[in-house]
Amino acid sequence: MRIFHRAAPLCRRAIAAACALGLVACSGMATQPAAVLPATPLATTLAQIRSELSVMPASVRGNNAARSTVIRALDDVLGQQSAEQPTAPEVVDFYRDALARVAVQIPAPVTEGARVWMLYNKGFLVKTASTTFAFDVVSGKAFTGSGAPAWDIAFPAEILDRIDVLFVTHLHPDHYDAVLAAALAARGKTVVCPRAAGTAAGCTVWMDAGESATIAGLLVHAWDAPHPVPTLMYEVVTAEKLRVLNTGDACCSASIPRTAAVDLLLLNAWMNEDNAGTNRDGMTAALLRVQPRLMIPGHLQELSHPLPVVETGAGRYGYENALKVQADNSLPGKTVVLAWGEHLDLLP
Ligand SMILES: [Zn+2]
Ligand SMILES: [Zn+2]
Repeated sequence: MRIFHRAAPLCRRAIAAACALGLVACSGMATQPAAVLPATPLATTLAQIRSELSVMPASVRGNNAARSTVIRALDDVLGQQSAEQPTAPEVVDFYRDALARVAVQIPAPVTEGARVWMLYNKGFLVKTASTTFAFDVVSGKAFTGSGAPAWDIAFPAEILDRIDVLFVTHLHPDHYDAVLAAALAARGKTVVCPRAAGTAAGCTVWMDAGESATIAGLLVHAWDAPHPVPTLMYEVVTAEKLRVLNTGDACCSASIPRTAAVDLLLLNAWMNEDNAGTNRDGMTAALLRVQPRLMIPGHLQELSHPLPVVETGAGRYGYENALKVQADNSLPGKTVVLAWGEHLDLLP
């Protein structure tokens, strides 16, 4: 633990905020403000981002324009993090704190509609009155394929305990975490994988594209998602008749099924029409095609995708174009961009 000597007022505020969030040791904080962790410029920036987002939570009905400035600041920070370098510890702390908040929030009962949390990369949690299910949740520990050091984040058991079903769209390490999947299976939970996943750790149920199943009270249909490895899109209808469609890593809007009215579209924001357009083009076409009530984009600032941030082709996809789609009121439904750990309530 590093020692902070003479805290400037701004730093003291950041430290107090960090203390309140449980990020730093706080004993004696009230009387000895000097003997606590330092606030690095990056930690201060991330603490401000976290603080500002916490006072303007995302809403389906509200205007999320004010949040865009804050999410752009987060985009700037994450857009400087590269898998070629060790991820900054402040960024790891930011995600660890986001998970800790979700762990506190997830036990609260949902009485109508769904509460949806955004986790790392394309990880989502969806809780309704009857079921809690998840898509592509990863701890981050798996991100070693490009030589990046693993994040040492212990995924909170409080969240794993609450997940009834995890849907894995495919086995790329930004979507599938063998340790996490196995931990769920060991708890007796259901982990749904593409048939091609074979004996991959944790899988308990396998589906083919075109197949339907009833799993933990959810009506599930698997669709083929064009991607370099076998990938499924999952269409899930809850007991409350909410229809959720997760596109996995589908390349193109034309591959998304024209199905019954979708309440919630969980879209990979890098969708770039197989490099024939920008990801804004892909997200726009997906919204026009599906016309969901709500779209939440995922797969933003996936740190093991190499920089630079791009709009088409290979590379990292950032928040900016998702924010532009969110701001485009001519598009069907509502798009809401969430930062890691944030949630949104979708009412019936
Ligand atoms: Zn993939
Ligand atoms: Zn991916």
